[in-house]
Amino acid sequence: MGLFNIFKEFSNKVKEVENNIYNEKRDYLEIYERNQQLEKEIEERTAELHDANRRMLTLQHIWDMMNSSTPLENVLEAIVNSTQGELGYMHCAIIRKCKDADGVFCRIIAQSKDGLIERLNHIIGSPSIQTRRLSYSENSIFSDTLRENKIMQSKSLDLSLKAIMPELNQGTIGQILTNQPVKSIITIPLLPRDKEFGWFCVFSSREELAPAETDFLGLFAKQIEMAITIADLFLAVREEAVTDALTGLYNRRYFEESLNKEVQRARRQNIPFSVIGIDLDFLKKINDTYGHSYGDLAIKTIADILKSNARSIDVPARIGGEEFDVLLPGISSDGAMVAAERIRKAIESQKIETIGHITGSLGVATFLEHTSNVEELLELTDQAMYNSKRNGRNQVTLAKSMSETSWQEIAVNTFIDILSKNRVPMAQRLSKELCQKLKDSVDEGENRQNSLYMVADMLTKLYNPMHENGVVKNKVLMAVSLAKRFDLPKQEVDNLKVAVLLYDIGNLMISPGLLQKATPLTEEEKETIKNHPIIAAQKILKPISYVQDILPIIEQHHENWDGSGYPNQKSKEEIPLTSQIILIIDEYFALIEARPYRAKMSNRDAIEIIKSDAGKKWNTNLVNEFISLLEHDIV
Ligand code: GH3
Ligand code: MG
Repeated sequence: MGLFNIFKEFSNKVKEVENNIYNEKRDYLEIYERNQQLEKEIEERTAELHDANRRMLTLQHIWDMMNSSTPLENVLEAIVNSTQGELGYMHCAIIRKCKDADGVFCRIIAQSKDGLIERLNHIIGSPSIQTRRLSYSENSIFSDTLRENKIMQSKSLDLSLKAIMPELNQGTIGQILTNQPVKSIITIPLLPRDKEFGWFCVFSSREELAPAETDFLGLFAKQIEMAITIADLFLAVREEAVTDALTGLYNRRYFEESLNKEVQRARRQNIPFSVIGIDLDFLKKINDTYGHSYGDLAIKTIADILKSNARSIDVPARIGGEEFDVLLPGISSDGAMVAAERIRKAIESQKIETIGHITGSLGVATFLEHTSNVEELLELTDQAMYNSKRNGRNQVTLAKSMSETSWQEIAVNTFIDILSKNRVPMAQRLSKELCQKLKDSVDEGENRQNSLYMVADMLTKLYNPMHENGVVKNKVLMAVSLAKRFDLPKQEVDNLKVAVLLYDIGNLMISPGLLQKATPLTEEEKETIKNHPIIAAQKILKPISYVQDILPIIEQHHENWDGSGYPNQKSKEEIPLTSQIILIIDEYFALIEARPYRAKMSNRDAIEIIKSDAGKKWNTNLVNEFISLLEHDIV
């Protein structure tokens, strides 16, 4: 091969290499460029994802708030602040369309935190835009938005301002609009569950509204509507749970919750509070004369009077059929007496269609003045109210302090006497323990009533292991309610309370095997058991001087109306009403409790059995009152 050829071949090889290099370089460049583009795209997608994620988190946060019981205003504030943050608006607000006796108006209920509002307030002065009653005009962007149910935008800021604040003069409006960055106002309709609520308003620094922006604003408006709907539902559920359906007053449960909170506060700050108890007079007569619906109307009338006389912190409640209580935080007995007298007068002067005038009997008791125990407070309120009844109705009575009321004292002393003198057979340790409990309740001013009920429950369990705690208390409460329906004097009601605690104590002297026997009793065994009223009255209680008035009640608590009872076969008016009350209450609670020889019965079955003995075991009138009491006791 010649030199030329060699050179040519070499040159070709160089070219080939050069070509290769060039090609590779081009490929590389291409790859590089493509990579760069990809990277840019990834960056853009990441930014979009980041944005979307942030919006999702914002929505999620709002959603979480809506699902908690966060107040609506706070949720709405979070929404407007998020919208402003997301889309860079100058200002966002939620305006509510309201109505009252003076007509339709608007009120700002949420707005974003920014400098714009401060500037506006500085110019318009007082009242600030947040507290101002804003006007509603049928001829404005606001009314159009709701009417057409669509998002609207306006560049006429002066017209929009005038629509809600026509009181501003042109100079003030000019001052507001000069040198500020807002170019347009956007109004989004809020129609949760198709009801006109108001507007979501944004103030934009842009003149145009982009389609994506409309979508996004629509999405936020949906969130607002949902928050409003949820808040309404929360409110409805809560109202249902705390109010009474007939009157709209608070119910017993809410009253008791408030009462307990007030007790804590009163103790902490050493400030008294009062309770006014109100009972409608002669409701039964109204029912009988005009029908039940007029009875209901009378109840509603009292409820309305209580509502309109209450301060915002008072708690007027319907406790039972025709019984009401009002809790007056921070009010001493003087103030409460004035408030009660005002209520009494208002009831008396209200004329009701067909019925005419009604009256109420009221009682007032004050925490820390009359007692520092909440159950005693209610008891005292009730006693005071009851005294108003006894003294002629349509009046207010102030409670006497707890130390002046004595049935608990009598009962405590009786139990202490029985236990400490071993008047009934029982383990020494237990009788000592119970005795101590009662003594402590006297010395330390603890709740005497609760200690009494506790001891009575314990003693009952000794001869009836199926007895449930709390039943003695329920028996006492029911006996008192029943006694009051018959207008028994306070002294007799007090005797009845003590008797309910003690009437079956004779059972402690009877062999437990006999009382618990599941198989039918022989005649002889029945006779032994039938001794228990005599044992209680004549053996256990007779030696205790201060319970002599109670002995006849206890001795006759198994006498039947038709003379078929025991121990003395007394009948009709020979039997004290208090004994009949004990008999009916004892029977009712026995029926709804289990016994070794039968299962527990339903309330309805128990009532049927009691009804079937009307006129035999009990006076029919008593049976009717008892059943009505069970039916009207709203617990
Ligand atoms: P007093 O002046 O002693 O309170 O007499 P009264 O008739 O109002 O009271 P009593 O306790 O003797 O009877 C209450 C009656 O109220 C018996 C019951 O049928 C009736 N009652 C209870 N709750 C309601 C209710 O929600 N609506 C109606 N219409 N009557 C009720
Ligand atoms: Mg009444």
